[in-house]
Amino acid sequence: CGIVGYVGQKNAYDVVIESLKKLEYRGYDSSGVALKTDEGIFIAKKKGRISELEKDFPSVPSSNMGIAHTRWATHGAPKDENAHPHTDCTGTIAVVHNGIIENYRELKAYLAERGHKFTSETDTEVVAHLLEEFYQGDLFTTLLKILPLLKGAFALAIISQKEDRILAVRQDSPLVLGLGRGENFLASDIPALLSHTREFVIMENGQIADIRAEHVELYDFEGNAIPIKITKVDWDE
Ligand code: GLU
Repeated sequence: CGIVGYVGQKNAYDVVIESLKKLEYRGYDSSGVALKTDEGIFIAKKKGRISELEKDFPSVPSSNMGIAHTRWATHGAPKDENAHPHTDCTGTIAVVHNGIIENYRELKAYLAERGHKFTSETDTEVVAHLLEEFYQGDLFTTLLKILPLLKGAFALAIISQKEDRILAVRQDSPLVLGLGRGENFLASDIPALLSHTREFVIMENGQIADIRAEHVELYDFEGNAIPIKITKVDWDE
């Protein structure tokens, strides 16, 4: 299971698929990608290997920002609908997740009562709907509102059609940021990004990253900024 993200000038699909393949060794049963395009968020997801996803989606809309995922199912059988990314009802927010949202049943019941319709059996999907429920124009402040509601282990990457950034959250599931010039990256581990950068920020538990093409910022779950510590890597790929 793994997570990848890209924001910059390149074709996001090519970048995230290439990096996602480097996470295949972790094992997975499904894969998927969400791309921000002018027409909305485009989702490609599929049970099986990444090569099958590519076969099903030989051409995708061009995009400079995307998130991608390999799934190791914990809640909901391995099938196309349960593959990540998951979206809210309107399809404007997309989420990928590694780990388990332990209290997803209560959250799902709360959201269903408020009219949210679910399309998967995963624990993850509640995150997209919670963000939709609390969204008031800014994804970061929305995330601060919903994080106290989530129990369990999670690495999350989130995009919104309305904003030019990826938000990432680390709580007991690894994530690193890769730093570029006019582009930045996100992945579950360093080797996934070594063909793109040698400069990393290793996220710690309880941190949120705000990743844009021009810069990255780190925050705690209360929204306080945290200084960035850059790790330079000189290993071979
Ligand atoms: N619990 C989530 C699911 O079953 C994420 C699993 C993972 O870490 O890939 O969909």
